[in-house]
Amino acid sequence: MRISIIGGGIGGLTLALALRREGLDAVVHERTSAFGRVGADINLTPNAVRALDPLGVGDILRRDAARPRYRISRDGYTGEETSRLPMSDAAEEAYGAPQLTIHRADLMTALESAVGPDAVRLGHQLESCDTTGEALTLRFADGSTEEADVVVGADGIHSAVRASILGTEHPEFTGTVAYRGVVPTSRIAHLEDVGSFTKWWGRDRYTQIVTFPLTRGEETFIFATEHRESWSEESWTTPGRIEDLRAAYADFHDDARTLLDACDEVLISALYVRDPLPTWGKDGVTLIGDACHPMMPFMAQGAGQAIEDAVVLARSLAAHGAPDGLRSYEALRQERTAQIQVGSRGNEWLKDGGNADWVYAYDAWGVSV
Ligand SMILES: Cc1cc2nc3c(=O)[nH]c(=O)nc-3n(C[C@H](O)[C@H](O)[C@H](O)COP(=O)(O)OP(=O)(O)OC[C@H]3O[C@@H](n4cnc5c(N)ncnc54)[C@H](O)[C@@H]3O)c2cc1C
Repeated sequence: MRISIIGGGIGGLTLALALRREGLDAVVHERTSAFGRVGADINLTPNAVRALDPLGVGDILRRDAARPRYRISRDGYTGEETSRLPMSDAAEEAYGAPQLTIHRADLMTALESAVGPDAVRLGHQLESCDTTGEALTLRFADGSTEEADVVVGADGIHSAVRASILGTEHPEFTGTVAYRGVVPTSRIAHLEDVGSFTKWWGRDRYTQIVTFPLTRGEETFIFATEHRESWSEESWTTPGRIEDLRAAYADFHDDARTLLDACDEVLISALYVRDPLPTWGKDGVTLIGDACHPMMPFMAQGAGQAIEDAVVLARSLAAHGAPDGLRSYEALRQERTAQIQVGSRGNEWLKDGGNADWVYAYDAWGVSV
C-alpha cells in the first residue's frame, strides 16, 4: 500500500509514526523547505500524551515539558476560584498519562527526530489530488506528480486535499484574535498557582486569559483572546502590540494583569474555524486534524484531536486496509471531534467545575477499530 501523508505538522508526523508501529510505511510531503521553530505552546492533555506514549517520544516530551499541578478556573475580575482539578500525578493515575505543556517547537523536534529524514519530503507543496484514475495522482507545486493508493490530508485548516475531494470553501473568521506570549517564570514567581494551568474567565466567551508553565516550569505561557472584527490575519508569526493586549484586560484582576505586564513581546493571530464536516473522505483519501475539524483553542484540543485521529487511522488502516479502514476511521472519529468543535466554540467547559473524563480518558490505542 503506497501511503502519502500531505502535511508534516503534528498530525502528519504522528500518523507516520503510528503507521510504522502498525507495520505500514508512509511518505510525508511537507510544503515548508525546513522545519522551523514556529509557534509558542502546545497543551498536551492526558488523552494526547497517552496516544503519543507508545510512539517512543514520551521520554523526550517529559524531559522538555512542564506538568501543570492543577487546572484552575477563576473569575477574571474578582479572581474568585470557580473550579480546580488536580492534574500531574492525579491525572496520570486517573487517565494513564499526565498533562504535559510544551513549546510547539519542542514537540515538533521530538516527532521529527522519531520519524527521521528519509520519510519526509520537505519543500513539497501539494496543489491537488486527482481521484478519477485507478491510482490517486498527487500534483505538487514544483510540477512533479506522484501516485498513491492512500492519501491522508494532514495539511491544516486550508487543506488542499480537502479542497480536492470536497471543493473549495473558506473557513470562517470567528471575530476572535489570540495573543500568545512566553515569559520567564522568575518574573511572576510571587503569584499564586504559577505551576498550574489557570483560566481567567471574562465577560463573554471571547474574553479570557489562559496561563500555564512551559519548559520544565522555567517559562510561563500566556494566551489571551478578545473579540475583534477588524483583524483577520491568521499567521503564526505576526507580532502583536503589547499595549493593545494590556488595554484589552485593563479591568481584569491584579494578578491577571501582572501576567500581562511581564510580557515583553506577543504574537497575534486571528482564529478561524469550520462547522463539523459531514464527509471527511472519498475512495482512498481521508483527512485528519485541522484539515477536517479545525477548532477554537478553548478546550486545548487542536493538537490532541489530531494526535488521536492519527493513532485511530493507523490502527484502522492496518486492520481493514483501504478504503474500508479509512471509512471506519471516519465513522469512529466524527462524533467525538464534532462534540469538541462545538464545545470549544461555546467556551463554557470546566468554567464552574464539571467532569473532564469524556475528553481526557479517551484511549486512542484502546478503542475498538
Ligand atoms: C507553523 C504553525 C505554528 C503553530 N503554532 C501553534 C501554537 O503556538 N499554539 C497552538 O496551540 N497551536 C499552534 N499551531 C496549530 C496546531 O499545531 C494545530 O492546530 C494542531 O496541532 C493540528 O495539527 P495538524 O497537524 O492538523 O495541522 P498543522 O499543525 O497546521 O499542520 C499542517 C501542516 O501541513 C503543511 N501544509 C499545509 N498545506 C500544505 C500543502 N498544500 N502541501 C504540503 N504541506 C502542507 C503545513 O506547512 C503544516 O506543517 C500551529 C500550526 C502551525 C502550522
